[in-house]
Amino acid sequence: MTTKEKEGLSAPKLQLKLLVDQHSNRVLFAEAGKEALDFLLGLLRIPLGLVVHLLTEEQIPGSFTSIYSSIQNLDESYLMLSDRDVLLKPRLPTVSLPLLEPDSPALATPPPKRYYRCSGTVHTCRGNPLYMTDVGGMPCPNCRQPMGTEMNFLEKPKVNSGKSGYVKGPITYLVMDDLSMMPMSTISAIALLKKFQLKDLSMLCEMTVEFGRKESLELLKASLQSKTVLTDVFVSEPLVDIDRLQTT
Ligand SMILES: [Zn+2]
Repeated sequence: MTTKEKEGLSAPKLQLKLLVDQHSNRVLFAEAGKEALDFLLGLLRIPLGLVVHLLTEEQIPGSFTSIYSSIQNLDESYLMLSDRDVLLKPRLPTVSLPLLEPDSPALATPPPKRYYRCSGTVHTCRGNPLYMTDVGGMPCPNCRQPMGTEMNFLEKPKVNSGKSGYVKGPITYLVMDDLSMMPMSTISAIALLKKFQLKDLSMLCEMTVEFGRKESLELLKASLQSKTVLTDVFVSEPLVDIDRLQTT
C-alpha cells in the first residue's frame, strides 16, 4: 500500500446521493451538500502542476506531463528556482480541498514572515521609523544601523471565521453527470426526470456514495476526460462500497 492510499483511509469523506438509471447504467444526477459542492468547485483552483503530480502520466490529456518531466530533469545549474517543488508540487491556494492536499511535509504552510525596523538610536529612526524589512540585520537606509528590532505584524481580522468554501449551506444542490451544478428544488428534479424521457421509473435507484482521497483523484481524472464523470467514477467501475438506501 502506498503512502497516498494509507492517507486516503484517514482522509475526511464527502457524500453524494446518486439517482441511477439501472437500465442504462448511468447516473442521472446527484444530490450534494455544501461540502461536496465546495470540493467540486475547488477543482477549478488546482494548479496544473499539482494535477500532474497527483495523477499518473496516462491520466493526463495533452502535453503537460512533458512540461513536468522537463523541469524534473533540468540540471540545477540552469535553474533560478531554489526549490523546484514550487512547480512540481504547487500548494493548493485554498484549504477547502483537504482530500487533494499535497502529501509532502515540505509543502506545509510556511511559518509567518517576520518584519524588522531599525534598531538605531538616531531620533528619526527611533521615534518615527520609515523603513521596514523582512531581512533582519539589513542596514537602515537612513542611519546605516542594522534593522533588527522585530515588529508585530497585524493581519487582517478574519471575518466570519468558521465559514469557508464557495457556496452557502445548508442547501441541497443538484450535480449533473457532467458536473454542472445548480441549487436543488423539487420542480427542477421533476423537470429533469421528464427531460431524461425515462420509460421505466422502476429502474431508478437511489444510492448514497462516499468519497475520500482515492475517489477524489478519480473524480479529478474523469473531469479532465469525460462528460459522464459520476457514472464513470461511481457506476461503471464502482470503487467504493455503495449503500443502496432504497429502490424506487
Ligand atoms: Zn535607522
